[in-house]
Order: sequence, then C-alpha cells, then structure tokens
Amino acid sequence: MMLLLTRKLLTLKMASAARAFSLKVAVVGSGPAGFYTTQKLLRNPEIKVDIYEKLPVPFGLVRYGVAPDHADVKNVINSFTATANNDRVNFYGNVALSSDIRLEDLIQAYHAVVLCYGSAQDRLLNIPGEQEAENLISARNFVGWYNGVPEDKDLKINLDCDTACIIGNGNVALDCARILFKPANLEKTDITSYAQEQIFRSKIKRIYIIGRRGPVQASFTTKEMRELMTLNEGNVRLEPHDIFDRQNVTIASLRKLSRPRRRLTELLISIPAKKLKSLSDIKGVEFVFKFLSKPYRILNDRIELQKTEFTSLEGFLDELAHPDDQDSYEVIKCGLIIRSIGYKAVVVDQSLPYNRKLGALSNTEGRVHGHRNVYCSGWLATGASGVIAGTLSSSHVTAKSILTDVEEKTLPNITRDKPGYQMISQILESKSKQVIHFNDWLRIDELEKKLGTNLGKTREKLVDLSKMLETARE
Ligand code: FAD
Ligand code: NAP
Repeated sequence: MMLLLTRKLLTLKMASAARAFSLKVAVVGSGPAGFYTTQKLLRNPEIKVDIYEKLPVPFGLVRYGVAPDHADVKNVINSFTATANNDRVNFYGNVALSSDIRLEDLIQAYHAVVLCYGSAQDRLLNIPGEQEAENLISARNFVGWYNGVPEDKDLKINLDCDTACIIGNGNVALDCARILFKPANLEKTDITSYAQEQIFRSKIKRIYIIGRRGPVQASFTTKEMRELMTLNEGNVRLEPHDIFDRQNVTIASLRKLSRPRRRLTELLISIPAKKLKSLSDIKGVEFVFKFLSKPYRILNDRIELQKTEFTSLEGFLDELAHPDDQDSYEVIKCGLIIRSIGYKAVVVDQSLPYNRKLGALSNTEGRVHGHRNVYCSGWLATGASGVIAGTLSSSHVTAKSILTDVEEKTLPNITRDKPGYQMISQILESKSKQVIHFNDWLRIDELEKKLGTNLGKTREKLVDLSKMLETARE
C-alpha cells in the first residue's frame, strides 16, 4: 500500500516537473460539495482551485439550511475554512454563474469546471390552489427566513393562527416543526433575531405533519424523530392512531426491514394512542403525524387531503399507498401551510443535461454528460437527498474522476496553460462587480459574531446584501 502511494506521488511529481504551469480548476458553489471536492483535488500538487460563490458568504446550506439549534453540525466549517486558506485555493464570492459569468467563460478559462451549486428550487405539489394560496410557503423559504438568506428575509408568514400543516415526511419537515415549537435556548443560537421574535410570539398550538404514504415510508430519520419526541414529550400523536394495528404490523413482523427502518418504526409504534385534544387544552404545541393523506386541493385557509391506503401488509411495508376505496377526503382548517416535499436543481446553462426525475444534472461518476471538462458533485449530482456525509462521498467520487482524467490525459487542453481567474476577473471588472475574497468574508464573520455576543447569542447574521458588501469593503 505504502509502496503504491509513494509510486503515485512520484508519478505526480514527475508530471508536474514536466509542466511549467498549474492545472486550473473552477469550482462553482461553496457548500459542502464545493469544499469536499476541492479538498480531494488538492491531493494532486499540480492543481489549483478557484471557488466561485453566488453569495458574498461561503458554506451553502451549512450556513443557510442546517437548523440553528443543530450547532454541532456546523463544525464542518472549520475544515472548510482551513481549505479556503490553502495557498492553492482562492474564494471569489458574490459571483453567480449565469448572471455574472457564463459556463462557456469558465470552460475557456479553466482546465476543468466542477459545478457544485446545489438544489435551489422547490419541488411542487401541482394541485389546485397551490399557486394562489397566500398562506402557503415553501420549507426552503421558511428555512431561509429563519437562517437569514438575504432573499428570504422579508417572507410573509402567518404565525397568528392556531393550526399549521407541514406537507412532507422528511427531515426538513421535522426541522420546520421543531423551530415552530420554539426549542429551549433558540434565542442563543444563530437564528435571525427577527425570526426568533416572531416565532416566540407565534400562536400556533397544533402542527400537522402530513405524509402521503405510511410511517414505514417516512424519509425522516430516527435521531431527528427521537429529538422531536423528547423535546415535546407526551404531545405527539399518530393518525390514524391504529395505523399499525390495522395492518397487523408488530415488532416481530418488522424483521424484514433494514435496521435503521426497523428502529424508526419501533419508535413510532411506541407512541401511545391519544385523543386529539381540543385546542384550548393544548399546553405548548401538539404535533400530529398524519399518514396516508395525499394533498388534494388547497383553499386559502384549509387543505383538503385525500385518504390513501395500502392493500396488503407487504404494501404497508414497502409500497405506494392508493386512494382508498370510498375515495374519502378530510379537510384541515389551518392558517399556515409549509410545503416540505424536497428541492431540485436549477439549470444555469442550456448546454447542461437535466435529469428531471432526480432534479439533478445527468452525469456518470460526476462527469456531466455531453461535456468533456465539466463535472458536478453534491446535490447537483445526486439530487437533493442525503446528509453532509453523503455529499462528501459524492464529492470524492467526482474528484476521483477528475484526478483519473488528469492522470490518463483524457482532459482536453491539459498540455496548455489556461488563464483561469485572470480572464474571469476582466469579465467581472467590465461589469463593475464587487468580488468578495475569503478575507472579506472573515470580516463579515467577525462582525456577525460581535453582533451576536452583544445579543447573548452565537452570531447575528447580516441579512442585507448591501450591508454585507459594505462590511467586506471596510
Ligand atoms: P449546497 O449546500 O446547497 O451548496 C451550494 C452552493 O452553491 C451554495 O453556497 C449556493 O449559494 C451556491 N450557488 C448556487 N447557485 C450558484 C450559482 N449560480 N453560482 C455560484 N454559486 C451558486 N445535513 C446534515 O448532515 N445535517 C443537518 O442537520 C442537515 N440539515 C439540513 C437542513 C436543511 C433545511 C437542508 C435543506 C439540508 C440539510 N442537510 C443536513 C443536508 C446538507 O445541507 C446537504 O447534504 C449539503 O448542504 C449539500 O451540499 P451541496 O454543496 O451540494 O449544496
Ligand atoms: P426528503 O427527505 O426527500 O423528503 C421529502 C418528503 O416529501 C417525503 O416524505 C416525500 O414523500 C414527500 N413528498 C414528495 N413529493 C410529494 C408530494 N407530491 N406530495 C406529498 N408528499 C410528497 O427531502 P427533505 O426533507 O427536503 O430533505 C432533504 C435531505 O436533507 C434529506 O436527505 C434529509 O435527510 C437531509 N436533511 C437532514 C437533516 C438532518 O440530518 N438533521 C435535516 C434536514 C435535512 P414520498 O416518500 O412519498 O415521496
């Protein structure tokens, strides 16, 4: 193994000795995928990486997605900061691919381009009333609002009602429910102060979390569900409450499930049957997990659900639920609906092939189809599913493809120098674009931490783009 590594390093050294210039790679997006891909690429000493980011600040969903009360998850930022400080890495923030620079520019300027710009669009229900309903917001915007995404800071959200519905059974749905529940010490986290104030004044008493399939098909994970149940002990209800009995699902019959799925199901089975309380009797917030309920229509202050069912135990364990025989419907009156049914990627250039089902770019091991030196990683490559650790794996697969293409010289123009940022900077200068360097971000970071300390919290994020740019300039 050791011998193999030494030989590989020697080959790389010889190659770089033969080449009088570095191999320039542009990475677009500074979320986990951008940084993990960069980290792996740096293993080849010939490679230099320029990271382009649309926003003036780095770290993608680690800053703008991960819930404020999950501070530990954000520790990955330390390793990303070390990468950004590497001599062979440059960060160029406030530069968006498509509106500021074109993919064609990057292809010309760099030996390879890695697109890591994530999934910035909502999936839609495509049901009547969805577009018109004033009280429907997407989880993406709600999360952006409490986490300080500049374009979500003015989101109108009705917290002056007693009932909210969250559509979807993923971890984002649980994040939204937990934040609306106001977990202890939320005010000390990096949640934006305006969101925290509004949430603390919220009148919401009951939150429905609505799944179109059953508990065994839920996408949320045991850790997150357990956290919610522990925080809100005694105030969680499953509907229909006999959902496991009806299909005769017992712990013993769960043997065929995978271990994580079995653990989650055991947890859900352990929730005791309870009657739905009257709203005036609820202390705090009640969570009602409503399964087998497919959103059918949205009227402004209510949602209509079509009841679905499984035809067999096998179906209950791993299949699709169908509209029930009587074709019955249920209406829930609610002042707020949060659609949390997933994200999909934006296509920033017409030459990029899009896999509609996945909501991601068509690629093989990170190589974007139809291109010779364009790659992708993270959610843009896999679709919007998976945790940060999953993004690391996807990024390593992509970086490995690039390193292989370098080694096997299948990357075009590998024997010629490329202008890299020198060319891109001319385009940006011609547009008088203010570019944010990593040191500029560190100034924003310092100010945010200072503002936070004054308020007794970890950070108070700047949410105004012009204030961010001004701070960066100072
Ligand atoms: P992103 O993190 O979205 O990064 C994409 C980057 O590209 C962003 O910085 C964006 O601004 C930039 N960009 C977009 N368009 C352009 C453009 N045109 N030009 C230049 N730059 C652009 N995982 C966990 O492990 N733990 C958690 O607690 C957790 N919580 C989450 C909470 C939410 C609400 C969400 C949505 C996800 C959560 N995840 C969590 C999953 C995790 O965030 C993702 O796995 C990971 O962020 C995906 O990384 P990425 O780099 O592919 O995308
Ligand atoms: P997700 O896990 O894919 O969940 C989406 C949910 O929406 C599913 O329950 C899905 O149900 C439902 N859905 C999709 N289309 C629907 C429709 N038309 N009608 C009704 N329901 C519909 O997505 P996510 O919650 O956005 O999370 C994205 C990723 O981030 C996940 O991998 C998640 O684990 C990760 N994340 C992790 C954490 C954490 O670790 N703490 C926190 C947040 C997010 P079906 O299964 O029936 O399609």
